[in-house]
Amino acid sequence: MSTQRLRSILPHIEDLTYAELKKLKHQVDDLISKNQVGEVIAKREENLVECPHCSCNRLARWGFTKQGIQRFKCKACLQTFNALKGTPLYRMRMNQKWLKYNELMWHGAPLRKCAAELGINLRTAFRWRHAFLKAPSSIDVQPLSGVIEADETFVNESFKGKRKLHRSARKRGGGKVPKTPILIAMNRDGSVVHEVVDQNTKESICRFLQPKIAEGSVLCTDGNKSYIEVANGCKIDHKRIVGLDKIRVVEGIYHIQTLNNYMMNWKEWMVRFRGVGRAYLPNYLSWFRYMKQNRKSCQGLLLTAVTNT
Ligand SMILES: [Zn+2]
Repeated sequence: MSTQRLRSILPHIEDLTYAELKKLKHQVDDLISKNQVGEVIAKREENLVECPHCSCNRLARWGFTKQGIQRFKCKACLQTFNALKGTPLYRMRMNQKWLKYNELMWHGAPLRKCAAELGINLRTAFRWRHAFLKAPSSIDVQPLSGVIEADETFVNESFKGKRKLHRSARKRGGGKVPKTPILIAMNRDGSVVHEVVDQNTKESICRFLQPKIAEGSVLCTDGNKSYIEVANGCKIDHKRIVGLDKIRVVEGIYHIQTLNNYMMNWKEWMVRFRGVGRAYLPNYLSWFRYMKQNRKSCQGLLLTAVTNT
């Protein structure tokens, strides 16, 4: 749009009432959203080269869905499908609302609020949450290099979404809620790796961390002795920050505060979801990592959903 056209619109807007401006804002948001999601879907349509059923690359364009998404027909297996088949976004409607939904998720909005704000039903809100959460979980993370901070964190065990417990509910130490351990490491570029494990043992820490560390790195940890074996196994330098003498930084640069902040932010964000089932924790970790690293780009997230399948 030319600057002139834009300039001719502005005087009309200035006279609008608050309520009218609000309505206009909604319409503008809607149009922007349609454009950005449309761009993501168009990229998928352009880059689709093989049939999701038989992997044949002889595809014919075959009209559009009601939502305007390109359909294809495979010349080998004769199946028809739309461009989003095989992605977490397949069969999701109302695509003009997807970006807003991700924004609400970033702000930790409960499902009921998401449903009310977007005019969708609760079931849809629930399905969308899990579809979007799944999107960044398939991104491969390169081994960490440079100064690496590693630590463990714990979340209260939750059996949400499970019909019955597969073991008897156990209580430890005066009725404390059992904790699920999460191993996590990050370097100073902000690359993060994490894993939800059954037990916080030396073996699980070594198995998780050793393959994820590049040669020549420096590992920073707290006093947990398990990390000595990780560092020895990788033949890298190890800076242990032992809490006893209240020293938090070694040689001016070695500490685990960046990681502790990251974990604190993640936990604060998670509080709003009120107990996430263990099976879903990895997706929440990956989604949060993606949004942090990509400056909360909801469009980028959708792009990831259609390119990493
Ligand atoms: Zn086919």
